[in-house]
Amino acid sequence: MITLKTEKKKKTIKRKQKIDIVLESLLNLEQKKIYMNHQQIYDQKIKLSEERNSKMREFLRDYDNRIYNPAMKKIRQECKTIGHKFSFHSYNLVRSHCIYKCDYCGASKYETDERG
Ligand SMILES: [Zn+2]
Repeated sequence: MITLKTEKKKKTIKRKQKIDIVLESLLNLEQKKIYMNHQQIYDQKIKLSEERNSKMREFLRDYDNRIYNPAMKKIRQECKTIGHKFSFHSYNLVRSHCIYKCDYCGASKYETDERG
């Protein structure tokens, strides 16, 4: 448990440092009037989005654990009882399986792609 908390703290610190690095490097470039090329702009956008997503997960973790996840589980159990209505959603990354999602509750199921 102590190890888990320590790991969590380390990750939080690492995340904060990462934010500082992204923002600091942007401000530094601006100050020096150095312009990024398209690849650098794209990379910075991805880094910033990853940071934002990480922050969102951090902010929502407690709510998700206490309310959202148990409530969603209950909703999906109810839907399963009356029968999910699955529609094709996408393929998995290696295209070996099809992913189907229920149009009503969002539950998903994977099936081998029999179409070749
Ligand atoms: Zn459903």
